[in-house]
Amino acid sequence: MNETALRIATIADLDALAWRIARLREEFLSNTNVDLSSMRTVIRDSWQRCRALAVNAELNLAHFVATNDQQLRDLYDLNVAFLRAAGPVLLRLRATLGNAGYVVAISDAEGTLLDVDGDPACRRKLARKGLLPGSNWSEAVAGTNAIGVALATGQVVQLVGAEHYCTGWQDVTCTAAPVFHPDDGHLLGVLDITGDYRLVRPFLTGIMAAAAAEVQRRYRLERVTQPARSRIFSGWTPPVPSNNASPVAGDQLVLFERLADVMRIVSSVLDPVRTPFVIAEQMGRLLDASGTVLAEGTTAGPPRTYFWTVSGEAGQKASEILQHAIHDPTILTWRFCDRPFIISGTTITNYKEELAGFPLPDISGMILVVRIPARPWTIADQQSGATLAAHGAAILRHARLYTDLQAYAAQTEVLNTLALFLSTLIDPIRQIDVVLQRILALTHLDIGMMVLKEDRHLAITAVPEIAIDQEQILALVETVMSTGQPIWLCREHAVAHEGTLLPLHDCCDLVVLPIILHATNAGALLIGSRAHRHISGEDLTLLLTITQQLGLTLSNARLRQVASENDALRQANHLKSVFLASVSHDLRSPLTAIRASVEDLLERQHEVSPIDHRALLSNIARETARLSRFVDQLLDLSRIEAGTLPIDREWVELHALVHDVITNFQQQYPVCRIEIFLSPTLPPLYIDPTLITQVLWNILENAQKYGPPEGPITIEAFCTNTDLVISISDRGPGIPINERHRIFDRFYRLERDRRSHRNGSGLGLAICHGIVAAHQGSIWVDERPGGGSIFRIMLPLINEQPTAWCPLEYHSRESV
Ligand code: ADP
Repeated sequence: MNETALRIATIADLDALAWRIARLREEFLSNTNVDLSSMRTVIRDSWQRCRALAVNAELNLAHFVATNDQQLRDLYDLNVAFLRAAGPVLLRLRATLGNAGYVVAISDAEGTLLDVDGDPACRRKLARKGLLPGSNWSEAVAGTNAIGVALATGQVVQLVGAEHYCTGWQDVTCTAAPVFHPDDGHLLGVLDITGDYRLVRPFLTGIMAAAAAEVQRRYRLERVTQPARSRIFSGWTPPVPSNNASPVAGDQLVLFERLADVMRIVSSVLDPVRTPFVIAEQMGRLLDASGTVLAEGTTAGPPRTYFWTVSGEAGQKASEILQHAIHDPTILTWRFCDRPFIISGTTITNYKEELAGFPLPDISGMILVVRIPARPWTIADQQSGATLAAHGAAILRHARLYTDLQAYAAQTEVLNTLALFLSTLIDPIRQIDVVLQRILALTHLDIGMMVLKEDRHLAITAVPEIAIDQEQILALVETVMSTGQPIWLCREHAVAHEGTLLPLHDCCDLVVLPIILHATNAGALLIGSRAHRHISGEDLTLLLTITQQLGLTLSNARLRQVASENDALRQANHLKSVFLASVSHDLRSPLTAIRASVEDLLERQHEVSPIDHRALLSNIARETARLSRFVDQLLDLSRIEAGTLPIDREWVELHALVHDVITNFQQQYPVCRIEIFLSPTLPPLYIDPTLITQVLWNILENAQKYGPPEGPITIEAFCTNTDLVISISDRGPGIPINERHRIFDRFYRLERDRRSHRNGSGLGLAICHGIVAAHQGSIWVDERPGGGSIFRIMLPLINEQPTAWCPLEYHSRESV
């Protein structure tokens, strides 16, 4: 498996989240009445359990329950099958995560760590907190942590930093998945991934759910292969050597040769459906019988039977006798004895033929054999039959194991593919139809539907879009949500009233599975097929795991959505406050000046000298102009930000444009000296001349305002292959390096200018940035060698020339 690409995402969100939970935790630890409603239910419940268990929240080091090698060895022995099943899975996780800062661990059903592996640096760091074999992570001992919560809830959990109850684990993130016994469902242990809390990744939950499912399957294989059987076939009694033993008789030799043949035939089948028939047939051929039956199954319920008979009358009679014998309760119990047996004729009512019986070791089965007409069963017959039975049982087990293995491999593949797919979705909540399509493709089913509870109503997504009886579907979903148990409906097997439960007209099989979001049943996945499908227990387990994985993905997506919505609201609120503070200040100062001048004029109407009268009026005019400029700037900026700024492009010659700007500028600031250096080969630009004029004007005005009023200001322009770069330099105080990118933010002003109460709104450069960006260009500021700032504007060149272009006269060095 390739190493997973671990993308670092939204650390700021994480820090904010961790900080908020840390504060809640402190309040919770010091106070019993804390509002924990904003926390995940699963964590809140765990904290409350920890409080009830009086867990020491100051814990920095995990508690060790196995402290020496012998105790650890005992622990391993107790969990040997689980460890063997988990070993390859841990190895693969380890290889997948590489040295990306994670440690993988496995605990027993009590929460005691059995094995820890992973990134060596991270392992050393976590070892100092006690993440070592022998340490216990149950909630009662180590407080809220992923392993403890997985043990307590039986679900896959991911925990971030401060969600841990104890002090020692506030800076880590853990994702843990419980592993259940494949047959009786009891807890075997937990798989866990731990790392720095900034490495929290939602897709780890999917990976862990798939890993836990794989351990579970391997555990089943471990148990099947585990109890090492003696190599001596039971039922085989070695011939007792005797002095008068004659060499093997000719018919015995034939029998043994035949045994080798049938063993070869039996060994060559790997199909578990065909294998019992082949064994029954070969047993018949080996012993020259008229009929055989292979029966197997537990003591509860009737056994499964596989008959073989020769054709004709003998075969018919053999079949009748075997049918009787195989359903005889006394005979059935003989399958547990460990050697061949002979059933005398009197045992079976109405028949006198003697039957030979061969138990099938390890699979609770046997083969009965009958010969018509009857012939005595020799020692050689019994020996060969017992050998074939023992060999057949082994072959049957292997065939089933092989099929299981194939099914497990296919299931693991499905879960891995799905986990990978889900981890690539940007917004799974809005992509449910895509998720459903992928699940259908992976499970080879053709109808998918997801019903999710949203506020008070249920949202239904169906793939493909189908006519549905909503009421029936909702009734099914409600049942599944209230019981938490899946429902499987099949038209083929339905008893009368169940048939009517199927809510989709053209659907034959339908499985309804509960979806758990944030530890509550929040909806259901309905999945089925139009044609009849033999949905097995294995299929149901797979569908349940898929649904669990889906629930986790959706839970995480919802958490992320809520977090980012809160963040966006906070940011909008902050911007609104900044905006109001800035706007009210910038509106107030000119208004105050205007009001003072007007009041002065009114109060001293008749005493004001003509000179003062004029001064007051020009003051009013200047401040009104300032006010109107500010309002214009606000309007421009709002249009830029809303993307509604009209751009009226035309072909423009830069020399002419610069010339016009400078002429106007000089009229307003006659003392300011401007130097111009424009390359002679500048191509025409396809721009909005009014907007680019505004950009140049804003920068020139800033240079004059923040630099020496008399300048000099230098304008330069040159071309690269793809862009035209205009630079405007001044000899002002320059801009500190750490604030260079911020001066293009709206309302941003340098600290020194804010403090000195110099006029300014912090909007000019934001508008320049917006205009240049709307031309697909960029703007930035550099330090000018010898002091001052250089503002650079880069505009992309467009290759097509205007059809009737007539360059204006060029001034190589111009001083205006
Ligand atoms: P303002 O209306 O405040 O000038 P701008 O957006 O044009 O708004 O500029 C933002 C801030 O950048 C100014 O307040 C000033 O602190 C700083 N600044 C802009 N141009 C220069 C410059 N040429 N030299 C030094 N500081 C400048």
